Amino acid sequence: MASQFPFRQYLIEFLTKNLPSLFLGTLLFGGGILLLALKIPGWSLFLGLPAIQIGIVVLILVFEGLSRKKSGLATEEYHFVTCLVCQRQTLAPKFMEKRICDDCQVRIAGKLKTALVAVYILFTIPLTLALVQKNQELRQKAAEITPTPTPTPTSTPTPTPPFKQF
Ligand SMILES: [Zn+2]
Repeated sequence: MASQFPFRQYLIEFLTKNLPSLFLGTLLFGGGILLLALKIPGWSLFLGLPAIQIGIVVLILVFEGLSRKKSGLATEEYHFVTCLVCQRQTLAPKFMEKRICDDCQVRIAGKLKTALVAVYILFTIPLTLALVQKNQELRQKAAEITPTPTPTPTSTPTPTPPFKQF
């Protein structure tokens, strides 16, 4: 019988480990942006931005996982191919004609991670500011709605006695 085809293993690993988190991260990120775009008062801000943030964190974790992934040992099921990025020779499973070498993958994942962290920070600062502002607005509104207590008459102004003129 044919030897265990490594492509299956690769595919299963990708489908079970990387794809769900990649999907989840993208979904959260996209959903958050959609919520922001819809501009639903309250919901957009309170759900949209956190969704984007969680999505980014999930994506960062996915890239972490991908960058740590190491390709297999040199066996007869692997052959040399040229890296698509750095053009160096690198080992690839037989079913792969082209691939990006581990070094380049790590570099790319690292760059993507950095970019995502930057995006995360970019979203976090406006979120904090927006929440602070929203909080102030709410307080202001609450202050407007609740009838401002009429200043309790500390002392009924006693009618000033008519000024006596000499
Ligand atoms: Zn390379």
